[in-house]
Amino acid sequence: MRPWEENIRKVVPYVPGEQPRREGIIKLNTNENPYGPAPGVQAILRGFEAEELRLYPDPSAGALTEALAERYGLSPGQVFVGVGSDDVLAMAFLTFFNSGKPILFPDITYSFYSVWADLYRIPYERPALDEDFRIRKEDYFRENGGIIFPNPNAPTSLAMGLEDVEDIISRNPGVVVIVDEAYIDFGGESALPLIEKYENLLVVQTFSKSRSMAGVRIGYAMGSPALIKALSDVKYSFNSYTMSRTAIRLGVAAVRDEAYFQETTHKIKATRKQAAERLSHLGFVYPDPSANFIFASRPGTDAKALFEALKASGIYVRYFEGPRVGDYLRITIGTDEQMEALFQFLERY
Ligand SMILES: *Cc1c(COP(=O)(O)O)cnc(C)c1O
Repeated sequence: MRPWEENIRKVVPYVPGEQPRREGIIKLNTNENPYGPAPGVQAILRGFEAEELRLYPDPSAGALTEALAERYGLSPGQVFVGVGSDDVLAMAFLTFFNSGKPILFPDITYSFYSVWADLYRIPYERPALDEDFRIRKEDYFRENGGIIFPNPNAPTSLAMGLEDVEDIISRNPGVVVIVDEAYIDFGGESALPLIEKYENLLVVQTFSKSRSMAGVRIGYAMGSPALIKALSDVKYSFNSYTMSRTAIRLGVAAVRDEAYFQETTHKIKATRKQAAERLSHLGFVYPDPSANFIFASRPGTDAKALFEALKASGIYVRYFEGPRVGDYLRITIGTDEQMEALFQFLERY
């Protein structure tokens, strides 16, 4: 090893789902939304002047924080925006998890959590989900340095009831509890109303799934002014201009179109219901889905072989190696036509 190499930070990075360049595929592997962004987003892009990029953006992304505050009935001081919720969550780990005590998150969950914890050298413990892939709230009733879990959980698509979420929060007044609601617009009950009651609760959401804007990179956190100020202070110690002028304007246009948001999330929920029924007919089992994907397994069928066969025929779903999850495929809900192509393949297979 060369001497300078000894002092390089060693990390095992998160592995995102494939973004194949191949044309004409059916992409059900990264939980993107099959419907485009709200029409107002396209209109902004058409009218966008390159000259506008000469200036730095508003460092507070005020127009976007205000639009979100209005949409969720909050004050702008309760909202923080970032470059996708990955950026917001990474910033939150850096800001809130500094006690030296282990933070807690489920053993089967969004795999970025352990990556950030390793990156920032935050110790962590991962209580196991129960045999039905449910989070056992009692596992979070012990001393810890902070808590994070998605609701609905990923990759299981299972939602935890709000009472159980509140139990976890109320039993942990001494640490920050983060509820990652990347999929809440597709099912489950948001913990957002609880931010008025618990100053240590941070609710994180994203434009990537329900608002169909994964390519723009917008995520946001909502919480007490004290938490939001702490996050902002860390952000301004890192990079003042995380949100581009374009992202801010496109984000505002998306939040303003409530009708389109409702219409497309309802369509996805309807397609999910049909897909779940068809999967059952084909002998698949799955936890009750509340997100825009179904985590499905077929007893007697090798999930990895099925994943490979689907891919060879141009249908991409997500497969995770490992005990328990290795028997499952995570299938994003696409359009009715895309799901039809998937089912035609599965019936033949
Ligand atoms: C997709 C996802 C995110 C990150 O989404 P961004 O595109 O970075 O906003 C965060 N948490 C979970 C559980 C997700 O599935």
